[in-house]
Amino acid sequence: MNIIKRMIYNSMLPITGTLLKNKNKYINVIYYHDIVKGNGGGAQYTNIDIFKIHMNYIVENGYNTYTFDELDNGADISFQSKSVLITFDDGWLSNYKEIFEFMKEKNIKYNIYLAVSEIGNNPDYLTWDMVREMHESGLVGFGAHTYSHVSVQNIAEVNKEIEFDLANKKFYEELGYEPIDFCYPYGQYTKESNDYLVNDTIYKRIYTSDLMFSYEQSGKIIFGRSSINNDEPFKTFINKLKGNYNAFNLIRGK
Ligand SMILES: [Zn+2]
Repeated sequence: MNIIKRMIYNSMLPITGTLLKNKNKYINVIYYHDIVKGNGGGAQYTNIDIFKIHMNYIVENGYNTYTFDELDNGADISFQSKSVLITFDDGWLSNYKEIFEFMKEKNIKYNIYLAVSEIGNNPDYLTWDMVREMHESGLVGFGAHTYSHVSVQNIAEVNKEIEFDLANKKFYEELGYEPIDFCYPYGQYTKESNDYLVNDTIYKRIYTSDLMFSYEQSGKIIFGRSSINNDEPFKTFINKLKGNYNAFNLIRGK
């Protein structure tokens, strides 16, 4: 990003978002990926020290955090100024190893979308034992993210038996329930893939990676999410936490 774009993104955009805030109908959702010591760099990593600063801010400012299970069990899903759904994509090992104890100490709830084929198979990812331990603690919720972490943008060419059915089956075998939260790998989707997810799968809550206002479609909810990026200023994190970035797609005309 050049300096002008960065200024607009970090300073002007959240002001617009604040003005349009009443368009936020559903709970605000933020997302991370891997949490690393040192410098991972880029949007897909967050340094552990920066992550802890974010989480301490959430606790000190009295935010309510939720698991997917709590959303099923009647937690208030409407937009509240002090509620946030914290999510992590893919199922990285660090989501257990680096942060589980810390999140327990702080009593911060979070959620992870699993790329099922990697779980227990790739040393950089969680094992099913870790997933079960986290889930049983009541602190961590789990959702689907396809079996092989494939883009579902071209839904006609997606192997649905593998990416949805097998992913759900494996999830059920390991955890005893089928996921009803689904996050688009790479944030990629089209109207066709979204319609398929809404009409032909068991998923009730579908998460994009778009900075947009969440909306309801045929009784299901499509969530916009704000990516929390390692290199952004702290005030941008705060504005994303407050839902002030969800007007971005509106402005961009998406
Ligand atoms: Zn992913």
